[in-house]
Amino acid sequence: VTFADLGLSAPILKAVAEAGYVTPTPIQEAAIPVVLMGRDVLGTAQTGTGKTAGFTLPMMDILASGRAKARMPRSLILEPTRELALQVAEQFEKYGKYLKLNHALLIGGESMNEQRDVLEKGVDVLIATPGRLLDLFDRGRILLADCRILVIDEADRMLDMGFIPDVERIVSMLPGMRQTLFFSATMAPEIKKLADAFLQNPKEISV
Ligand code: AMP
Repeated sequence: VTFADLGLSAPILKAVAEAGYVTPTPIQEAAIPVVLMGRDVLGTAQTGTGKTAGFTLPMMDILASGRAKARMPRSLILEPTRELALQVAEQFEKYGKYLKLNHALLIGGESMNEQRDVLEKGVDVLIATPGRLLDLFDRGRILLADCRILVIDEADRMLDMGFIPDVERIVSMLPGMRQTLFFSATMAPEIKKLADAFLQNPKEISV
């Protein structure tokens, strides 16, 4: 199986080839066609499996048509830590070389003013930690009503870090008609319960 077999478009295939990826990893092979189809995903996968490309590549493909409106991001990737959010943003830039997609990184420790300015221009993908996102939301800087793709990454770490109430609050501000991709290294009962609340008829993928 090649990346082209998975249904990705030419500008993404070009960036993936330039990144030096020859074969999709098992999670990429399983997740990419399902995400492109518009289905929800419940993925059990650790970091290092190629999970990030497994959700960013098809997401970017979906987002590549259409434009974001100011303050109304079209998709949201929630990460538990700044480091993970930074890594996702790096991969996003690499895979998006030949696409015109904007992203904003909303993490603690970065200037609020700068983040606010980026949001005013309209972003396709928000990559955020829950606390900073809620901060900006509470200041009226972001509207999440147009976010139709949501990724909750590393859900077990979100739980360990006490972020679940924040995540629940964020999800409640997104439209009900959306695509949700939910990843966790483990599927403990508490995580499964959250997944059940956030996902609709998800395709379960475990690697
Ligand atoms: P992740 O599990 O998403 O943190 O990805 C782990 C690392 O694998 C990242 O540094 C990616 O750049 C790299 N990677 C992702 N997919 C592939 C692939 N199909 N072939 C080779 N490397 C990959």
